[in-house]
Amino acid sequence: MQVRFWGTRGSIASPGPDTVRYGGNTACVEIRSASGVLLVLDCGTGARRLGKDLVEQSRHTHVPPSGCLLIGHTHWDHIQGLPFFAPLFEDGSVWDVYGPRGLGESIGQTLAGQMQYQYFPVSHEQLVAHVSFHDLLEGSFEIGDLRITAQYLNHPALTLGYRIEGDGVSVVYACDHEPYDPSLVGGGGDVSASRGDSRHAQFMLGADLVIHDSQYRPDEYLYKKGWGHSTVEYAVAVAAAAQVGTLVLFHHDPDHDDAAVDEMLETARLQAGNALTVVAAAEGMTLDVTPRAEPAQHVGSNLRAMYQPTTTELSAFIVLAAADPALRTAILRAAAEEHLHVLDLDDDDEPGVNRNALVVVDHDDALSTQAARLHTWGERAVLALTRDRPMTDTTVQDWLVWPSSIGHIRTKLRAAVLRRACQWQGAPLPGDEEQRLHALHALKLLDTVDEERFDRYTREACAMFHVPFATVTLVDADRQWFKSRHGLDIHETPRDQSVCAHAILEDDVLQVPDLQDDPRFADNPVVSGPLGLRFYAGAPLVLSDGSHVGTLCIGDVEPRVLDAGELAELRRLADGVRAQLEAGVDVARG
Ligand SMILES: [Zn+2]
Ligand SMILES: [Zn+2]
Repeated sequence: MQVRFWGTRGSIASPGPDTVRYGGNTACVEIRSASGVLLVLDCGTGARRLGKDLVEQSRHTHVPPSGCLLIGHTHWDHIQGLPFFAPLFEDGSVWDVYGPRGLGESIGQTLAGQMQYQYFPVSHEQLVAHVSFHDLLEGSFEIGDLRITAQYLNHPALTLGYRIEGDGVSVVYACDHEPYDPSLVGGGGDVSASRGDSRHAQFMLGADLVIHDSQYRPDEYLYKKGWGHSTVEYAVAVAAAAQVGTLVLFHHDPDHDDAAVDEMLETARLQAGNALTVVAAAEGMTLDVTPRAEPAQHVGSNLRAMYQPTTTELSAFIVLAAADPALRTAILRAAAEEHLHVLDLDDDDEPGVNRNALVVVDHDDALSTQAARLHTWGERAVLALTRDRPMTDTTVQDWLVWPSSIGHIRTKLRAAVLRRACQWQGAPLPGDEEQRLHALHALKLLDTVDEERFDRYTREACAMFHVPFATVTLVDADRQWFKSRHGLDIHETPRDQSVCAHAILEDDVLQVPDLQDDPRFADNPVVSGPLGLRFYAGAPLVLSDGSHVGTLCIGDVEPRVLDAGELAELRRLADGVRAQLEAGVDVARG
């Protein structure tokens, strides 16, 4: 895998005699796999020359310049080269642009914003190349023979870092990131002590090459806290903790001349010792990344980076536990701007309502924190605001240093909501999916009216097992539809959220005593959402041709376990339902 640097600077382009060696253009890195897959990481001003170079090459090869752009976030220094990226104006070029999705706006809309006529003479619609935009959440996806894993960084704007695995090596691009725990800024401290920093280290675990934000010296960071950038010392500490091969210092401060970068590189090398190699990114520098002696590490993710969350999944409650009036005002405003509903812990005496909540606490206020812990903490997402304390409470998922800008708070709320939206896993498709759907549709039962011949089974199941919910579920191509439902108002849900879609993969009853304890379901909206389902048991409905078309299932809001006798009863009821399915329309009329 080959890595080439076209822009290395952060914040703003800074050309001139003092930045000749490390370069003045803003972030842009070219990555090529051995098979020729081209990724462009960020599209700062460095992208202009890369674009010209790609078009020039295409003149010789007669192949239009095509590839993928991976945008970490949409701050100017990462996108300003886009309107000047020549391949986007080449006939026959195909570009896929990936970037973090927001709550309201897509990455395509945000990028189009900078090409509005107030800012730029050529509009977004005038791009000649075929350009597709892809919104990303945290998770993994594939581009050609490369596997990409995206993970949020700690920055005032929603920002993704990218881990790229292929050709037997892994390269991590983590640009615009600030330590979670301020005590790590000087390079001392324990990376594993804070949840955010250890998660960050885990993301780059065993990577052969890490391109990392290292904009500041510790004395500069003091005045730039909350701006979303790292010190060189932090970059080395986290890379060493992650057993990285080579660390590339990146996103150089516009005020640092070549001599200053030299000095920071020297400091970094002293700190790193024999643990890892450190280089400073320079415009024009090319690195060949080859496998190391150590076995390659794969840090994939089960999460689906390309998943498109529904509006319901994006609407979260926020439970606010804080007494500090300034902090409260800021959280309420940020939540309102993100259209998120806030429940004030003081007013809230109905704990059931908090199931779907993101808990926001003032971690320095012991009383508020304790109140939140009593009511709603536990397995829920927790965002803690703190002033100068070490962020070592491992029950906290994310931290924010207070005081903070409204924008930064919005980003944190957004990340928490988006993170949750992509966490549960949809069921894989059965091997006989096509045949199964054919058999299901042949029953002609989908979207028909309620029928007593099915309803009596769900009614009986609820009475027999003392549960609030029972359904006869038919699993269709992209939804589950309830032929009969007891205790539920809705007729269907997306297949992605369906526990029954897992149950039809089984030959016998699928029993999940506590859905919250099962990583497949813990974050599923039917579990974490208002319904609050905890227990599930579903018996597959298997037609005589062997097709598993659906289930007879029962559910409860409390965890429980069916014993052997109860399982046998559920199977018996399912047999009755199966017989009704195949009895066909004639019986239904009779
Ligand atoms: Zn930047
Ligand atoms: Zn930024």
